[in-house]
Amino acid sequence: MTACKTVTILGATGSVGQSTLDLIQRSPGIFSVEALTARSDVEGLAKAARASSAKCAVIADTARFQDLKDALAGTGIEVGAGEDAIADAARRGADWTMAAIVGCAGLMPVMAALEGGKTLAFANKEALVSAGSLMIDAAKRHGATLLPVDSEHNAIFQCLDRSAPKGVSRIILTASGGPFRTTPLDEMARATPAQAVAHPNWSMGAKISVDSATMMNKGLELIEAHHLFAMPADRLDVVIHPQSVIHSMVEYIDGSVLAQLGPADMRIPIAHTLAWPERMDTPCERIDLAAIGRLDFTAPDVLRFPALKLARDAMVAGGAAPAILNAANEAAVAAFLAGEIGFGNIVTVVARVLDRYAPDEPLSLPDVLAIDKEARRIALAVMESVIA
Ligand code: NDP
Ligand code: MG
Repeated sequence: MTACKTVTILGATGSVGQSTLDLIQRSPGIFSVEALTARSDVEGLAKAARASSAKCAVIADTARFQDLKDALAGTGIEVGAGEDAIADAARRGADWTMAAIVGCAGLMPVMAALEGGKTLAFANKEALVSAGSLMIDAAKRHGATLLPVDSEHNAIFQCLDRSAPKGVSRIILTASGGPFRTTPLDEMARATPAQAVAHPNWSMGAKISVDSATMMNKGLELIEAHHLFAMPADRLDVVIHPQSVIHSMVEYIDGSVLAQLGPADMRIPIAHTLAWPERMDTPCERIDLAAIGRLDFTAPDVLRFPALKLARDAMVAGGAAPAILNAANEAAVAAFLAGEIGFGNIVTVVARVLDRYAPDEPLSLPDVLAIDKEARRIALAVMESVIA
């Protein structure tokens, strides 16, 4: 890489945000940080803003604005607070923006970042699941480049032969199977938050870790791939691969299958999007295939992981279903992490909300946000009346 890139990180205090900052700080003089954002972690945000000499730092939680001002007093770093300020930070026109807010809360900032027509490195799958075609249309309309960060989608992006897009016959997403791949089912239903977030291969934020344990994560990723690669549902498959060495595969009509391999370290896909279309060095370990010895594959167990079918059905149904699936899941996972419902209840809540709520297809961003809000309200009612 030669020119200095300006960079904004939405969700800078999270797992993906911190991995992004780690790479940036290892490449002095290559990147210049425009804006960093967080929800409520003032200490983490201020530390990251100082360390990266960011121009601007924004906290979503307005009650913590004064703390942020105090923490950055005398640094010359601009500060802001509130949802609109986060969207404004996304509009500052950085060459490269990392979308790493967790949940549909990231949707407005993502849409704001797309308006600039620059590059969006995209981790925030919930935004794409909820507003898929609206987001893809916005990217096209504004001439923005969407680069997938999610390890599976980044792998697919790397394996796609863009000179012969019609030659692709199938996309195969790999899934580790999470912490409960072989746990007895009754034990799995009683799993605690600590057990559910203990992913065997990846270190990630709490919400995506729980999604990996239910395999809702893979379901959301099917919908993500459907939109990112314009791939119909019947040409998207999932295979369990417990070692997480192959991050996904693309099959071609001649029978060739291309795979991307690497260690389970998010800094690799992040670096791919940071340097794209070039490559950059990372401090990540190299895989030693001889030491790994074998790679295993099995079909997903549909009884163990009903979330996968729920998500696939929502993808096929289209319309409002993916946004409802996502919102109900966010509400149920938050309740599980707060100790309010059991692990086994998460998918039940999502299924019941999908049964009860069938609005028209969202045609605008306000439509999506209204559906998201209503689905969360119904999820809370389901949890209070049925589960509790
Ligand atoms: P984390 O929970 O670790 O971090 C989330 C970030 O978003 C934090 O900076 C948090 O701020 C901020 N945030 C949370 N809620 C809001 C809100 N309402 N408004 C503004 N900011 C908010 O998540 P991850 O880094 O694990 O995941 C981020 C996204 O990337 C998710 O969509 C996930 O699915 C996706 N992803 C993550 C991977 C991983 O390895 N972690 C892999 C592939 C995809 P604060 O710290 O103040 O709460
Ligand atoms: Mg993934």
